[in-house]
Amino acid sequence: MALLHFMCSVTPLARAVRSRSVIVSSSRTAVTLSSSSTTATATATTTATATATTATTKTKASPPDSTVLLGMSEEQLQQLAIDFGQQSYRGKQLHHLLYKRRVKEIHEFSQVPLAFRTELQEAGWVVGRSSVHSSVVAADGTIKLLIKLEDNRLVETVGIPVTDDKGSVRLTACVSSQVGCPLRCSFCATGKGGFSRNLKGHEIVEQVLAIEEVFNNRVTNVVFMGMGEPMLNLKEVLAAHRCLNKDVQIGQRMMTISTVGVPNTIKKLASHKLQSTLALSLHAPNQKLREKIVPSAKAYPLEAIMKDCRDYFHETSRRVSFEYTLLAGVNDDVEHAKELAELLHQWGPGYHVNLIPFNPIEGTEYKRPYRKAINMFQSMLESRKITVSVRQTRGLDASAACGQLRNEFQKSPLVTPTIDDVQPEPESEPEPEPEKEAAVAC
Ligand code: SF4
Repeated sequence: MALLHFMCSVTPLARAVRSRSVIVSSSRTAVTLSSSSTTATATATTTATATATTATTKTKASPPDSTVLLGMSEEQLQQLAIDFGQQSYRGKQLHHLLYKRRVKEIHEFSQVPLAFRTELQEAGWVVGRSSVHSSVVAADGTIKLLIKLEDNRLVETVGIPVTDDKGSVRLTACVSSQVGCPLRCSFCATGKGGFSRNLKGHEIVEQVLAIEEVFNNRVTNVVFMGMGEPMLNLKEVLAAHRCLNKDVQIGQRMMTISTVGVPNTIKKLASHKLQSTLALSLHAPNQKLREKIVPSAKAYPLEAIMKDCRDYFHETSRRVSFEYTLLAGVNDDVEHAKELAELLHQWGPGYHVNLIPFNPIEGTEYKRPYRKAINMFQSMLESRKITVSVRQTRGLDASAACGQLRNEFQKSPLVTPTIDDVQPEPESEPEPEPEKEAAVAC
C-alpha cells in the first residue's frame, strides 16, 4: 500500500539532514548532505476488475531463495555452517557479520576462514545486498532511495526522520513489498506504473539496511506502505517481519503492515498474532464510493473488511489504523466524515483514523483538499469521539508519492502479469510460524 504522505514535524534528525534543494543522484554516487554530519553513502496486469474478482487469490509465491544469506536466522546460519563441515559457531559469526557489521560481500567476511568463504561463493551463496540506483533528498529530510534489484527491477524505499510529541527522534523506513502493484488504486502512482513481481523477504529487509546506511542511524519504525500490496505477498512479508524483529532487532510494535484489503488475508495475518499495527486503507465511508477509488474493493465488501479488522483487534489487542486519503470534492465532505464516524461506531472500539491529504501526482485529476476542508473533516470526526490524526505531507518536492520516482526511471512497461500470475495461494504453502512474543521490547 502506498504511503503517499508522511506525518511529522521537522525534527532534529530532519534538520541534521536538511538540504535546501532536492538532490537527485544516480547509481552508487555518493550524496553528502550539506550542513550535516549525516552522509548519504550511496546515493498487469489483469484489469482492476479481474484483480477484484480474485477474491481468494494472491500473486504467485516467490521461488525459494536458497543461496542468499540475508534474511536467514541465526539457527539457519548455524545449520548452513554445519552443512559446510564447519562448527556451528561459524553460523553465529555469519549472523554477526550480516546484521551487526552489515558486511555486503562474502569475500569481506574477514573473521571467517578463507576456505569457508570460498566454498560458500563457489556454491553460489551471496549476501544479497543490492546497489542504490538513485536517491532523492527532500528539503524536510525525507530521503527516497531507488534500489536496483538483481534482475534490474527498481524498487522504492523511503526514510523519514520524525520527532514525536514527546520529542523523541524516530527514523521510519517505508518499505515496498512488490515491484509495482497490480491493484491500481485510482490515486496511486505505483498502481499506474504496472506490476512486475513480488519481492523476496531479503529484498524487503535490505531496504531497511539501506535506509540505516544513508541516515547513518538506526531505523526505529518500519511501515509496509511502499510499493505493492503486502497482503498479496504475505509469506515474504512475514519472513521479512521476522528477520527485522529477531535479527535486525526492531520491535514488533514499531512495525505497521498496511493493506487496501485482500479477501481472507487479514484473518491469516491475525492468526500470526503479531504485535504490529494493521493499517487498513479505507478512503471512503461506503462501498459505492470505495469501489470508485479502490477498484479492487469490489471483491471485498466493506462490511466484511470491518468485521475482519475488528477480529484482528480482538486477536492481537492491537488497534487498527484506518487510513483515509482526502481527495478534494470526492470524499472530503463533512457528510462523508459523519458517515465514517457512524461506520466506525458500528464496529466498536480499537481503531484510529489517519487522514492523509492527497499529494498530487502526474496523470490524475484528483486534487488536494484545502486546509479548511481538512480541518472540518477532522473536527467532525473528533466531535463524534473518533481518535484522529492528520498526516503531514513529507517530501512534496521530491517525487515523494509512492511510485513516482520509480516511474521516472522505469518508463517502459513492466512485465504485464497474465491471469496465471495472480494465483490462489495454495492452502498447504508453508509460512513462518506465528510469533509467540516480541523479541524486542518496545
Ligand atoms: S495501487 Fe497498490 S501500492 Fe498503490 S495504493 Fe493501491 S494497493 Fe497500494
